Amino acid sequence: MRTGIVYHPKYLEHEQTPTHPERRERLAYTMDQLIEEGIFDRVKLIDPSPASLEDVLAVHTEEYVEFLRRYSKIGGMIDWDTNIPVGVFERALLAAGGAITAARAVVDGEVDNAFAMVRPPGHHAKPYIGAGFCYLNNMAIMVRWLQRRGFDRILILDWDAHHGDGTQEIFYEDDGVLFISLHQMPLYPGTGYPDEVGRGRGEGYTINVPLPPGTGDEEYLMVFEEIIEPVAKEFRPEFIAISAGQDNHYTDPLTGLALTAKGYAEMMRRAVELSKELCGGRLVAILEGGYSVEAALPYTNLGIIAAMAGLDLSYIREPEIYLGELRWRKKDVRDKVKKNLETVKRIHSRYWNCLRDS
Ligand SMILES: [Zn+2]
Repeated sequence: MRTGIVYHPKYLEHEQTPTHPERRERLAYTMDQLIEEGIFDRVKLIDPSPASLEDVLAVHTEEYVEFLRRYSKIGGMIDWDTNIPVGVFERALLAAGGAITAARAVVDGEVDNAFAMVRPPGHHAKPYIGAGFCYLNNMAIMVRWLQRRGFDRILILDWDAHHGDGTQEIFYEDDGVLFISLHQMPLYPGTGYPDEVGRGRGEGYTINVPLPPGTGDEEYLMVFEEIIEPVAKEFRPEFIAISAGQDNHYTDPLTGLALTAKGYAEMMRRAVELSKELCGGRLVAILEGGYSVEAALPYTNLGIIAAMAGLDLSYIREPEIYLGELRWRKKDVRDKVKKNLETVKRIHSRYWNCLRDS
């Protein structure tokens, strides 16, 4: 596979406060690791263009965009987690534009798939307000761009540890976008229950799979086998878009999940397989959260990119010194996850043939 990475040094400029978890080292350390592994000899580095106002207004209200633009000049605040630092508007436009750049590279056949390694993240941003470190919803802005280019069935898989509440809200009544979110519960933002299924025409096209703290690689793969793969095959997407949060890693300081870098690589390998089977390999991943800057992000990003590019995954592993943390973070939650999956299947068997009597 020919894989693109959309990245710009300006993605390191965004900073809320020096101690904020969503900080520049998230990508700085990753870039060091990717260079050290020689990954840029194997993938295509792509320069992002900023999103246009038209792209942004396909998702966000004029009032919010005006508010963000105004306070981006003088500094301000959205909520306790989400300051408006000076200059954030232009940086958010470059992040959203990075997602569109990735989609365009795939649609134009310049690459088979692409990873938009952008900051600030986007999946908590709603049409009328940002939230949870997010200003503009990069994923939604990219998906709306794809819809304008004639893509009628798009699968969004959001595996960030937090529920993608902003993205869910934007596509809640849209039957052309299947939104599947796997997330830790309980955790911010407190939404993402299985009975949130979409509304109107969109009923059945939102699937929420809550996971208990301690969930690890085996359970994530179980969700792939029992929900994501069968439903994706029934939906037959023309494009697969992944909100690739990396805060499910067992060293993440904000969450309690226990996924490994190898687990991330395997999830992406399966997503790439699905894209090859269903939509000519068209897949874009967009970076969302992930706050373990040294122990996770350099390795999880590497695993994801290697899987997208079809490289050998056997060398993707955890740094030895952090393995102790996995032993206390990982819990025996198989039965709990199974129970949650049964609930999701029971609720969604009304909408999806593949989930009946299984
Ligand atoms: Zn997150």
